[in-house]
Parts: sequence; C-alpha cells; structure tokens
Amino acid sequence: MTRSTLTHLECGKCGESYDADRLMNLCPACNRPLLARYDLVKAAQTLTKESLIEREPSLWRYEEVLPVRRDDACLRLGEGWTPLVQAGGLGAAIGCANTYIKDESLNPTGSFKARGLALAVSRAYELGAKELAIPSAGNAAGAMAAYAAAAGLPAHVFMPADVPMTFRVECKILGAAVTLVDGLITDCGVKVREGAQKYGWFDVSTLKEPYRLEGKKTMGYELAEQMGWQLPDVIIYPTGGGTGLIGMWKAFDEMEEMGLINSKRPRMVSVQSTGCAPIVRAFEEESEHAEMWQGAKTVADGLRVPAAVGDFLILNAIRQSGGTAIAIPDEEMITHARTMGQHTGIFPAPEGAACLAAQIRLLQNGWIQPEESVVLFNTGTGLKYAHLWA
Ligand SMILES: *Cc1c(COP(=O)(O)O)cnc(C)c1O
Repeated sequence: MTRSTLTHLECGKCGESYDADRLMNLCPACNRPLLARYDLVKAAQTLTKESLIEREPSLWRYEEVLPVRRDDACLRLGEGWTPLVQAGGLGAAIGCANTYIKDESLNPTGSFKARGLALAVSRAYELGAKELAIPSAGNAAGAMAAYAAAAGLPAHVFMPADVPMTFRVECKILGAAVTLVDGLITDCGVKVREGAQKYGWFDVSTLKEPYRLEGKKTMGYELAEQMGWQLPDVIIYPTGGGTGLIGMWKAFDEMEEMGLINSKRPRMVSVQSTGCAPIVRAFEEESEHAEMWQGAKTVADGLRVPAAVGDFLILNAIRQSGGTAIAIPDEEMITHARTMGQHTGIFPAPEGAACLAAQIRLLQNGWIQPEESVVLFNTGTGLKYAHLWA
C-alpha cells in the first residue's frame, strides 16, 4: 500500500461529498468537477521537508497527497520532478533577473499532460476501468495512450482532424485507437460521451474525472520544494482547460494546511491566444463563468479549448491571487519561442513561448516589476510542432 491519505471526493461547486473508491466523473448533483480530499493532518506526519530529501525523483514522491492506494497501480514512466531552470541569460535580455522556467517538456511524451494522465490512468486502473477514452487537441491524447499502454488497457482517442501529424502518430505507435473528428475538442468530447454510454468506456476528459487535477497539482509541490519552500511573486501559466492552474492553487492550500508554506501566494497569470481567449474575456468582464469562444483558432494546440468545465475555478484562483489574464497573438508566440530557445537552451512549445510573451508585455506595462521573481511554465516540447518553425 502507498501512504495515500485520500478520504473522499467533494464537488468544487455545490460541496457535496462522495465515496472516493469508486469510478466517478462529474458531480451527479450539479455536473461540476469533483475534487479529491485528504486527511492532511495524517499526511503532514510523514510528508515533511526532511523526508522528501530521500524520496524518488518523480511526482510519486508526494504519495500522501495522491489518490492511488495500491503500489502495483502506480504507473511509472518517469513523470514529474522536472527541472526548475534559472534562466539568467533570458532574464538579463528581458530585464527581469529572477526569471525561472519550469521545464515540463522533459516529462514522458514531451509534455506536462503526463502528470495528469499518470494519475488518472493509474487510479482508473486501480478502480477497475476496462477501457479508456479521451478527447484531445494534442498532448493529452499521447499521454493517455502511453499510460493506458503501461496499464495494458485499450485506449480510444478522439482528435480534431486538423491536429498536427506528430500528435496523431504518437497515439498510434502507443497502441491507441485514433478517431479524427471534423471540429474542435468540444466536438471530440461529444463523441467520447457517446462511446462512454454505448460501450462503457471511462471518460478521462480533464476535470470530468477527479485525478488529472491531482497529477497536475504536483507542479505546485515541486515548485515550492525546488524554491526552498518560498513561492515566487508571479506564476505565468498557459491556460486551456486550466487543470494546471487550478491544481497548483489547490496544492498551495494543502501545503499551507500541512505547515509546509505560509499564506503568501504568487499572483497567477493565465495566458491564452488571441484566437481563443474565453478566460481572458471572462476575467475582463468580471464574470463567474466563461462563455464558449466561437471560431477558436490558434497554433498552440493546448490552448485551443473554447469552453472549460472548470472555468469558475480558474477565474477564482486568478482573482484570489491578485493575478491577471492576457491574450497573446500566435505570431508573438512563434517569435518568442526563438527568444527563449536562444537564451536558455530550452526548445519550448508555443504555449511555453506564450508565457514569455506575456511576461515581456507585463514588464512593459509595469504589472511585473523588474526585481520580482517570475516562473514561466514551458508545458511541452517544441519538437512536436516542427511545422511551425521551418
Ligand atoms: C494542454 C496543454 C496546455 C493547457 O493546459 P491546461 O492545464 O489544460 O490549461 C498548455 N500547454 C500545452 C503544451 C498543453 O498540451
């Protein structure tokens, strides 16, 4: 058995609680995301700063606050514990000395989607799911296919027909059944729901099951640990479904409750593309939920998410942190992929480059001060987007 202290699931909207040891998707009462809850008093007895020094270099080092109970159900491909790169040369070039990059491109399948899917697939396997299905605009599909292969479970992937070939090919090599759908990720989601009803597939769409969030929250734990338990002033995060941002926000609360950090929080910045910016629009309009973005179009496949089920959780985290939301044109992402590449040695996905573009704009308009510490998330490798750079 792992040291998991999982106690129950709780609806992020209506607060209703549910048994954590059965397969669940959204809250049956209000159709909103379910969040995993832990016995943090118990977790804090063994999850200490000292004990972490000895632990394995993967996200499984935080097992007390992860949901998987059986050791044999923890699927391991080397997920998490990615480097936090001190980007001195880049910082000097843009006038912000304390710039760091959390380089998520080093995860299995080349993106941070591996964190979420490692947990979702491990837990689905542990709870007896027989077949898995996912709608994906790119990286999530490959990560799901990889962990399903590791578990020996059949995987069904639904992608927009215009998804770059690299994403499609990766899923096929990893053994998934790939269906191309004329439309966007939201249309792919409809196909997954049909298959789930008809064939009993388990739907691992983000935030429509509780555990991808738990995988992605480990970015918050790692950031705190790698920065000596002092969070940065600003975190800049490229936002599609927002799982990473919501996850880190949850991690900060858990860590404070366990006495690992104090109450100081980074200002959370959500970055989207001007071609698909539902969260930025909702933030500016001060709405609780985001309206569906019509005609979503961007080269940053991870940001091509016209509607997010966790929109209210993303907006909450941004507002509570004193953060902001900003949209970046695609051309600027491509330009600043080069800026990041040549000053750091990291070849970013356009989503990662979007964070740098946002940082530059926020330095220019004075929202970020030059002496503040800023962490950018490079969420994936630029290698899968070869078509953009030629
Ligand atoms: C999925 C994805 C994102 C968006 O992540 P969310 O947590 O869903 O907001 C950003 N970048 C890349 C490379 C992605 O694959």
